[in-house]
Amino acid sequence: MQYLTFKCPSCGGSQYRTSHYDVRETNPHGAVCIFCKSGMHLLHRPMSAIHQYNVAAR
Ligand SMILES: [Zn+2]
Repeated sequence: MQYLTFKCPSCGGSQYRTSHYDVRETNPHGAVCIFCKSGMHLLHRPMSAIHQYNVAAR
């Protein structure tokens, strides 16, 4: 399972819930902040970190 990290652009929170009703182009996962109900922004991990993780997993 892919590990996703979200961050709220309004309050900076990282706690969210996902809802099919909130899925849109800018929020394809439908993740909304549990505090202010804003659409969460997906944090992209650096490619180097992902590469290191994959190497370590094998
Ligand atoms: Zn928020």
